[in-house]
Amino acid sequence: MTHNKNEDEYFARRDAELLRQQRAAARKSAVEAERKTHYMKCPKCGYDLITGDWDGVKIEQCTNCHGVWADAAEVEALLKRPTPPNILARVFRAVAKGVTR
Ligand SMILES: [Zn+2]
Repeated sequence: MTHNKNEDEYFARRDAELLRQQRAAARKSAVEAERKTHYMKCPKCGYDLITGDWDGVKIEQCTNCHGVWADAAEVEALLKRPTPPNILARVFRAVAKGVTR
């Protein structure tokens, strides 16, 4: 009987492990799907973001609320410009002008 008990435990453990793996995979694909629905969407209002090129720096902007997004590398690129330090203000002013156009 000990043999059967061990076998039961083995299968129970294996099933639990399979279930755990299935759940992990399901969770992973759910997270992935969720992420995809947010890709290039405004975090504020959920509308589409469009990428604009401002002085060679890519900045994302919401087509609805006109919120402006730039990732760290983009901001870094802006700040590293050998041009005047107010380039950031200039770019953002241009972005704002671009949407009110
Ligand atoms: Zn928005």
